[in-house]
Amino acid sequence: MARPEEVQIDQHAIDELVTTLRGEVIRPGDRGYEQHRRVWNGSIDRRPALIARCAGVADTKSAIAFARTHNLLVAVRGGGHSFPGYSTCDGGMVIDLSLMKGIRVDPAARTARVQAGVLLGELDRATQAFGLAVTTGIVTHTGVAGLTLGGGLGWIMRKYGLTIDNLLSVDMVTASGESLRASETHNADLFWGVRGGGGNFGIVTEFEFRLHALGPEVFAGPIFWPMEDAAKVLRFYRDWIADCPDELMTIVVQRRAPALPFVPAELVGRHVIGVAACYAGPVEDGARAMRPLKSFGQPLLDLCGPKPYLVHQSMFDAGFPHGWRYYVRSCDVAELNDDVIDIVAEHGRRIVSPITSVALWQRGGAVARIGENETAFGGRSAGFTFNINGNGETADGFEAERDWARGYWSGLVPYHTGAYVNFLMDEGAERIRETYGAAKYDRLKTLKRTYDPENFFRLNHNIPPA
Ligand SMILES: Cc1cc2nc3c(=O)[nH]c(=O)nc-3n(C[C@H](O)[C@H](O)[C@H](O)COP(=O)(O)OP(=O)(O)OC[C@H]3O[C@@H](n4cnc5c(N)ncnc54)[C@H](O)[C@@H]3O)c2cc1C
Repeated sequence: MARPEEVQIDQHAIDELVTTLRGEVIRPGDRGYEQHRRVWNGSIDRRPALIARCAGVADTKSAIAFARTHNLLVAVRGGGHSFPGYSTCDGGMVIDLSLMKGIRVDPAARTARVQAGVLLGELDRATQAFGLAVTTGIVTHTGVAGLTLGGGLGWIMRKYGLTIDNLLSVDMVTASGESLRASETHNADLFWGVRGGGGNFGIVTEFEFRLHALGPEVFAGPIFWPMEDAAKVLRFYRDWIADCPDELMTIVVQRRAPALPFVPAELVGRHVIGVAACYAGPVEDGARAMRPLKSFGQPLLDLCGPKPYLVHQSMFDAGFPHGWRYYVRSCDVAELNDDVIDIVAEHGRRIVSPITSVALWQRGGAVARIGENETAFGGRSAGFTFNINGNGETADGFEAERDWARGYWSGLVPYHTGAYVNFLMDEGAERIRETYGAAKYDRLKTLKRTYDPENFFRLNHNIPPA
């Protein structure tokens, strides 16, 4: 890949782009270049030749046209949280949408129109102002755009579906510069594809979501036990959630207890297993639903109780700041059988880094009631999704953390049923095909041939044109 200093772009053309854009153009050496070339994952260190910070649809069209004319590799950035760092590149152009922050909530219609640079926390704040919410993810500084286009798992998905299950329409600019709307009634084939197919078909400039009444208080939070009790806790947990209501969503967490204000000093660094929960319904019902788990064994720490939904949504933020080194391995499994539980318990005990963590997502509920072929998203019927994060604050020890994550994931291979595309690293075409399944992958390739036949948008979990 060309280094930025090797990429020759005519200065007049750049000057023209600068005057055309309402946003800004940043080049190597400009103030802000170091800040804007970086993405959330500190293990990604790339130097684009040009960063086009678009302020709207017109800017996005101009940036696409410029990249085509100058034959530049394009990286598209919403919130910058792609695990493998697809939203930056060496020597190409970043089309950065982070200035596009518009959110319009229509409380009467219970919908929201959301521009491509909005982060999850910004969307949650805007919708909660009206007592409403749409499924978003569990770390507030993640981008709405990338999360939505891959599917969108979150605390209220078992009740209200994935983020894409609440998507009503998207406004897009395609590789040829055409503006399109996709919804159930306009370009329905494309609408099928953007609900799980990622950024393969064009740049989404605006999303329209359906909203639901929620909060402002929910019954939510984590309960922790010693990691030595992991197998016992997980066996109890497995049976307890087997017939739990859709309102209840849980994530099993494994890590060493972090040094955060709500963690007693004597626990910091100790290996713990936790179950974090969120009840998307009346607080009293949530309290009742959580009672059995709260009284299981001897928890080290119980932080599960009534709290504002917005507070719960930001619970994991401190564990995933910008700039640390992150590596993830992910897979879906059908069930927590005894073997899987033993693998979880064994690898949990071996965590070394204080910032390495595992999130084991409960699935089912509304997510599983939508047909596998109704959207491009793969693996609706998965029982659980593993997100195994081997992380390091610096390069020191990071390779060992990655090895640990790979070892954990490999141990689960006999039980893999698929994976969530947004939790993949750069793992090759076959893994991407596996996340969709062969038939859907072929349908996505045909769609790609229609909307992006030259594979202009290829820095992503790529679906090559058929
Ligand atoms: C800390 C953290 C927490 C996470 N938590 C969750 C979670 O709770 N639930 C969940 O489902 N996922 C979660 N994820 C995964 C997340 O969904 C993906 O990393 C997602 O790609 C992030 O989107 P982004 O806009 O921030 O990323 P970016 O890096 O900006 O974008 C990722 C990719 O999406 C595409 N893209 C972005 N914007 C556009 C656009 N406007 N039009 C077309 N294509 C676009 C591009 O291909 C880009 O490479 C998490 C990730 C992180 C790092």
